[in-house]
Amino acid sequence: VMLLLFTAPAFASEKLMVIGHKNPDTDSVISAIAYANLKNLMGGKEAFPAVAGPINSETRFVLDHFKVPYPEIITDCKDQCKQVILVDHNEMAQTVDNLNMENVVEVLDHHRIGGFTSSKAIAFLDEPVGATASIVANLYEQNKIPISREMAGLMLSAILSDTVLLKSPTSTSRDADTVVKLAEIAGIDDPKTFGIELLRAKSNIASRSACDLVTGDLKKFNFSGTKAAVGQIEVMDLNDLASKRASILEE
Ligand code: MN
Ligand code: MN
Repeated sequence: VMLLLFTAPAFASEKLMVIGHKNPDTDSVISAIAYANLKNLMGGKEAFPAVAGPINSETRFVLDHFKVPYPEIITDCKDQCKQVILVDHNEMAQTVDNLNMENVVEVLDHHRIGGFTSSKAIAFLDEPVGATASIVANLYEQNKIPISREMAGLMLSAILSDTVLLKSPTSTSRDADTVVKLAEIAGIDDPKTFGIELLRAKSNIASRSACDLVTGDLKKFNFSGTKAAVGQIEVMDLNDLASKRASILEE
């Protein structure tokens, strides 16, 4: 006689945590919020958004503008994070500290697939579009879940930010179409003007330290054992950078 016992994993009752990469940018924070919201509206296991570090001035501007609370900051997964959805990244070098990649149950991303492995089948959606928020917005549509004004405003902001007003090389017509639909729901007549306001909040570098500027959007990579990191600073006017140049190079 063969007896098969199916026991539910101890973490079966844990909530789903939706989290973006370290040094969170607006797309990673908002994709976590909007995707957790979608998961909850669809029923099933309860989901909550988290961020892997303090949120930047641009993201604060967006969340304040649409009156959406800041997500919980989780910088270390020790003894927690049992059911995790990664958004806006899939590389271990960019994910929250001490996350057991076996606890990742889903990935939603628009970046290169950087060595992700899993011993079981998971939902893994990686699409060549300009922002993870575009994928999330499309998932609301596909699942016929209406998008609230706040969520539309958030996702619109994330797409405009990540695609630098739809001008980045990664931006696609799908991002542009999604921006039009979201702007209508959010009641924003002129997404371009709103986007410029948004990028100003992000590119205000005058008051930021050189260390903050260098590490603010820093992504670590492991290229077959060679560690490298790439940091970016976006400014509306290159002249803004002149007075900071020496201290940035030193840092
Ligand atoms: Mn990102
Ligand atoms: Mn992104």
